[in-house]
Amino acid sequence: MTYIIPPPILPSLPIIGSDQRFPIRRVFCIGRNYAEHAREMGASVDTAAPMFFCKPADAVVSDGADVPYPQATSDLHHEVEMVVALGGGGHDLTPEQASSLVWGYGVGLDLTRRDLQAQAKAKGHPWDVAKAFDHSAPVSALRAATEVALDASSVLRLSVNGELRQQTTLGEMVHSVPQIIAALSTLFELKAGDLIFTGTPAGVAALQRGDRFHAELVGVAELDGRIV
Ligand code: MN
Repeated sequence: MTYIIPPPILPSLPIIGSDQRFPIRRVFCIGRNYAEHAREMGASVDTAAPMFFCKPADAVVSDGADVPYPQATSDLHHEVEMVVALGGGGHDLTPEQASSLVWGYGVGLDLTRRDLQAQAKAKGHPWDVAKAFDHSAPVSALRAATEVALDASSVLRLSVNGELRQQTTLGEMVHSVPQIIAALSTLFELKAGDLIFTGTPAGVAALQRGDRFHAELVGVAELDGRIV
């Protein structure tokens, strides 16, 4: 078969300690998964019904790459998040079934056009223009789950220009990774290659052109980049 235009390149991420890459199918994100962040946004956590949104797979930016300051905003915010990569899928999964689908982990930034998000919230509009823009998802190389021992004391943090901006332990998450995957699977049939951003802790703030960021899921993955 031939195509009438060149087909899109399949987005992918490097894997730590391997020459193989992880192909990205879709990118799901959970909102309001740390109570302190929900509070700083003037919202509350709905423990019964997690809130999800999506980014396009080609919004993912690899470790070390420059991130262009996006158009149509004057308030670009960082949200550091643990990223889960699925090696399998399914729908209507139990949390126990969900756990077995995790292929690996990384750390990413859910970049947000905060001014457009505020407008969307005020008008009751969807969040797509605030969240799903080009280059809105820098993600580290992924670490295989078989090499990782994450627990409630694992640390997630972000520095900008050497200054600590966000830091938490994973124990502060409202919905655990198995709970997030199980909840998503009641809305979508998940597949291998799907990435899930698992929410950001408090401390979100603006990024400017020239800022250098360093995100870390300590002992698992690191992400460096620059806003240009
Ligand atoms: Mn987020």
